[in-house]
Amino acid sequence: MRVEIVPCLSDNYAYVLTCEATGQSAIVDASDSAPVLEAVARAGRRVAAIWSTHHHHDHTGGNEAVAAALRVSEVLGHSSDRGRIPAQTRFVEHGDAWQLGLLNVRVLHIPGHTTGAVAYVVSGDGQQAVFTGDTLFVAGCGRLFEGTPEMMHASLARLSQLHPATLVYCGHEYTEANLRFASHVEPGNRDVAAALVAASERRMAGQPTVPSTVASEIACNPFVRARDAGELGARRKAKDSFRS
Ligand SMILES: [Zn+2]
Repeated sequence: MRVEIVPCLSDNYAYVLTCEATGQSAIVDASDSAPVLEAVARAGRRVAAIWSTHHHHDHTGGNEAVAAALRVSEVLGHSSDRGRIPAQTRFVEHGDAWQLGLLNVRVLHIPGHTTGAVAYVVSGDGQQAVFTGDTLFVAGCGRLFEGTPEMMHASLARLSQLHPATLVYCGHEYTEANLRFASHVEPGNRDVAAALVAASERRMAGQPTVPSTVASEIACNPFVRARDAGELGARRKAKDSFRS
């Protein structure tokens, strides 16, 4: 399994996921066509599908142009996002599973940020990765635009049940700000302090902070660590107005 990280727009990430055994690739969140097409061309990838995590324009704005340029006929998103994801041809549900080359792929429905948000869990070569869109960020979670704290709490619980070594690839580079909020919430959390130093070093070097791991999110993420939906909702409200 190989994952190319493609910075798009101001702070979005698209990904090119490849089964190295067969050379088949999928694009996760074609945010913007130019950088995605460049990344595909640079790596010489053969793209079978576009997988959208949710309908927001900064995750799907490149769907039509990328699908046309690469002659991709499969554009995936949740069944409830019908009419909201450009060029969508396949309408997935929680638990749907298939293969990309030799990699096993399965869908988790993770509403909260939007009601149709999904994660794609990919395993193979003794590794597992999850693409979480704007639901689970490194050390944070997305705003509750369409869902409730209860939905987000259940979705984060679902994601944290994945194997602790699972690599987490999220939709935005918000890590430093998220970790500053995390250290405000839990000033005594040493994992948060160490993660903030590491994230700052990576950003100073011009490197992305993705991927994280499920284990690290369980240790550092104040929304994953919220004991119930009420605490999650209160933290989400506090984060909306937090200025570090
Ligand atoms: Zn979004």
